[in-house]
Amino acid sequence: MVLQYVSLARVALAGALAAALAGCSVAPAPQQASRPVPSAPEPVARLSSDQAVRNFDAVVRRVEPVAESECRARTRGLDCDFLIQVDTRPGQPVNAFHTLDAEGRPLIVFTVAMIAEARNQDELAFVMGHEAAHHIAGHLVQTQRNAGLGAVVFGTLASLATSGASDAVRQATVEQALQAGALVGARTYSKENELEADALGTVIAARAGFDPLRGALFFSRLPDPGDQFLGSHPPNAARFETVRQVAATL
Ligand SMILES: [Zn+2]
Repeated sequence: MVLQYVSLARVALAGALAAALAGCSVAPAPQQASRPVPSAPEPVARLSSDQAVRNFDAVVRRVEPVAESECRARTRGLDCDFLIQVDTRPGQPVNAFHTLDAEGRPLIVFTVAMIAEARNQDELAFVMGHEAAHHIAGHLVQTQRNAGLGAVVFGTLASLATSGASDAVRQATVEQALQAGALVGARTYSKENELEADALGTVIAARAGFDPLRGALFFSRLPDPGDQFLGSHPPNAARFETVRQVAATL
């Protein structure tokens, strides 16, 4: 399905983005000496909230169908009907993650700060492709098996599952999924899984018409490890190299 996140009220997203963009608190302070940036950096100026919303719209429209078709081509019996959501709770960090809802449907969640931090559509597309790739590659399942967290996550989600759920219940389910994602999706992938997601994310972003190399530059602006999004992530140099190698084959 396309553009379901619009149900969260585009006006609310625009307002939240305006608030996020008004402050500088999430802007990273890059360490110039250690930045493995492969090419000229993007302009550092942030986008307007209107532009950020338009960019996100455009990226969802183009990346979601490609992610779903790649998912169906590469898997058997997996739910490939991605639902793209925006976490509009105030104060959430720059983050995006993949998780599953109560019915096992794959969610890709962007925080408002993440949308605000991206400087162009290529960056949003690369991150969206990366998160979709975690689902296609079965990383969440592997992670839960490895960490023994599956029962906790799905127990919580299942308790909220009702047939014909009201919007309120559905939203509550998403909130639970957000928490599950914060617990599972954002922290415990291995570095190998991250590089695999970068590789497949490169394919998805490119096939959706975006530039994955330009998109991967997003990571050059993020604070280095310690941040929950990056805590388990490989060094940027390894990620850029993976993206470069895969992009060269497309
Ligand atoms: Zn990842």
